[in-house]
Amino acid sequence: MNGKTDKRVAIVTGASRGIGRAISAELARSGCYVVVNYRSDEHGATQTLEMMRESGADGEIMRFDVSDHKEAQNAVDDIRSRFDSIDVLVNNAGITADGLFIMMPSADWKSVIETNLNGFYNVTKPVLEKMIVQRQGVVVSISSVAALIGNRGQSNYSAAKAGLIGASRAVASEVARLGIRVNVVAPGLIETEMIKDAPVDNIKTLIPMARVGRPEEVARVVRFLCSEDASYITGQVISVNGGML
Ligand code: NAD
Repeated sequence: MNGKTDKRVAIVTGASRGIGRAISAELARSGCYVVVNYRSDEHGATQTLEMMRESGADGEIMRFDVSDHKEAQNAVDDIRSRFDSIDVLVNNAGITADGLFIMMPSADWKSVIETNLNGFYNVTKPVLEKMIVQRQGVVVSISSVAALIGNRGQSNYSAAKAGLIGASRAVASEVARLGIRVNVVAPGLIETEMIKDAPVDNIKTLIPMARVGRPEEVARVVRFLCSEDASYITGQVISVNGGML
């Protein structure tokens, strides 16, 4: 038994909707007990949990803001105290605050870095402390094609998502010998609330597959990276973008 479950324990941040919800469902189907993190949308997180339960899986919802160091630390401490191991962490929570760099208010620069990049530090560090003791674990962080091409109007987001890649590669090399794998998934344009105001028809012309992706198409790659099938993959960035770049 792993505390109150005999399954692998996974934490998915920002899982009340979109890609995080799809990842939670996919990990649950693959046999994980999933801690569904949300910041404010408790209803959405509960729906994610219900979806997981419909497929016979289990988990729980847990509120914390990944950009708040203390909240994240307390939440991970709580999970650590209740389960024998934390096997999987998916850093999925993310926000955008787009605008041309020259016009960008400092608050928009900071909030995007706080959530997308500092959130990685706030959650991953306490989880890794546990994984190092266990001598096993997997971390997957959701970056973006914006990190690789530098999207116009997304200097803050591109910087944060590129930072996530650098940090993940460095941490991967630090913990590889301890049985812990750290990878990054970089989605292209995926059909979620996040892109509801994006000029999708224009962007589609840049996608060789000429369509946006579905959250499940990202989730399946995350599930693979979290599984034993990916046992020799660490420090990598896997693009899921319909052929962009
Ligand atoms: P989304 O807006 O539907 O979901 C983001 C989730 O993160 C939401 O549930 C939100 O509440 C949560 N969140 C935001 N800030 C948080 C915080 N401080 N603490 C906890 N949770 C927080 O968007 P999505 O498309 O599902 O995005 C998921 C991830 O994928 C994000 O990191 C995003 O940057 C990345 N991504 C999305 C796309 C895309 O086209 N949709 C492309 C590349 C990368």
